[in-house]
Amino acid sequence: MNRRYGLITLVAVITILMVLVTASSLPGYIRESGNLYKPFEYAQMYLEDDPYSELIIEYDYVPGFEPSHRAMESLGEVVYAYTDKTSVIARVDDQIAFRDTKPIYTEDDIFELVDTYKSYQRGGNTMVLYVLYLDGAWKDENVLGLSFGGDRIIIFMNTIINVARRSQNLNPQDIESSVLIHEFGHLLSLVGRGYHSDHEDPDYEHHCDESAGPCVMAADIEIRMGRYSEPPPTDFCVLCQDDLEKIRHMEDDPGVEELITAVAVISIVVIGISWIVVLKPKKKDKEEEYLLYNEQYSNDMNK
Ligand SMILES: [Zn+2]
Ligand SMILES: [Zn+2]
Repeated sequence: MNRRYGLITLVAVITILMVLVTASSLPGYIRESGNLYKPFEYAQMYLEDDPYSELIIEYDYVPGFEPSHRAMESLGEVVYAYTDKTSVIARVDDQIAFRDTKPIYTEDDIFELVDTYKSYQRGGNTMVLYVLYLDGAWKDENVLGLSFGGDRIIIFMNTIINVARRSQNLNPQDIESSVLIHEFGHLLSLVGRGYHSDHEDPDYEHHCDESAGPCVMAADIEIRMGRYSEPPPTDFCVLCQDDLEKIRHMEDDPGVEELITAVAVISIVVIGISWIVVLKPKKKDKEEEYLLYNEQYSNDMNK
């Protein structure tokens, strides 16, 4: 009988441990492996210092189109100004091989380049921002930069150089810094990515209407049709700054990972209880029945 109680205790302890481990680690595992993060959740990985207090910015580039020190410094200053990161490290990393370059880049070309050249992964207390500088143009040739996947930026440096040539008194770095910060702003969920913003440009989704003054999140920083007459802004307007505060406090609704976790936890509990029922000593019941019978019997006798 004691052995059975020992087994029941063991099953109960194992069940509770499995429930605790599943409930605490499964949602994170499903999110990470399925890449189920929403834009504002990536934004929070950049804005907050928990769990990532450090940021590595990895720059890969086509030779001749490397990032300028000025642009890298400007982005670093923006990170320190608007996020809680205590350390920002710029790593000028791989050169893109000539055979991997294209005159026009499509989504597939870019996914392949990122797969081949991205070196750093987020983990521990380190968040990673990946930036790729290219020579050729995006399939829509007026685009100066792109952001995607929550933590990647593409800069079409040759297109930026061409726009600078058409503009008076401007060098490519004047434009490059703005485009780089603009794309980082998109990764911070600006403007209206996953939330409602009342200053979103009605003609260009996810861009600032500049109703509070010049803003680096204006659409024409990224999609440049004409020429610039003066250097474009490199800072967020006050309304975009207010949005960043809003984004910091946004919360995630339960998603597929919570559902799968709930099913797993319920299954473990049901299996645990079934085992305990199977192991439950039967002898005790018989003893009780016997006592009850005796009681009944003696009651009858007393009558
Ligand atoms: Zn944009
Ligand atoms: Zn703005």
